[in-house]
Amino acid sequence: MAAALKVPLSIIRHRCVRRSSATVRTICSLSTFTFQASSLYLRPQRYVRHISASVNEEASARLAADSAESGGPTIFDKIISKEIPSSIVYEDDKVLAFRDINPQAPVHVLVIPKVRDGLTQLGKAQTRHAEILGQLLYASKVVADKEGIADGYRVVINNGPSACQSVYHLHLHVLGGRQMKWPPG
Ligand code: 5GP
Repeated sequence: MAAALKVPLSIIRHRCVRRSSATVRTICSLSTFTFQASSLYLRPQRYVRHISASVNEEASARLAADSAESGGPTIFDKIISKEIPSSIVYEDDKVLAFRDINPQAPVHVLVIPKVRDGLTQLGKAQTRHAEILGQLLYASKVVADKEGIADGYRVVINNGPSACQSVYHLHLHVLGGRQMKWPPG
């Protein structure tokens, strides 16, 4: 089955970058017809939903990574300046923590440095960033305590396009309030 799925999935990934979910859905149907891949054939809607969502996420992450090279401002700069409203959970002179607009758990808070100083992503960290990195991690613990999830939570950093990073201003996701699974997706 793996061999049968390999070709259609790569076609879908290749074509989806500039096309809509509807197009992906059509391509997926054609692939099902052409290759008769058994599980794709038996449960097409489930696969279409999953493939469509993850493909869109990957495509947007690659676009975000391309524009990150400019080092320009991101949406988080507007959140820091309060130009865009956010639900702030914790703030000090170095760190801001606010609720994610698209929560993936009952508690989903983003913890960011107020001054980016080149930290578009963790992979850009230099020795001089060690202090702020520690402060961000400690702030994540403070957020977890404040949110009442100290018994179990996850702190995530998506670094780069292969991890689907979409905003190029370093941020830690603090997720909790439900049972987390491992391995993560
Ligand atoms: P990444 O995918 O880069 O690891 O995470 C970026 C996060 O920022 C996403 O979870 C996304 O939902 C969140 N996000 C993007 N734009 C906004 C916004 O305008 N406000 C808030 N609160 N979160 C945002």
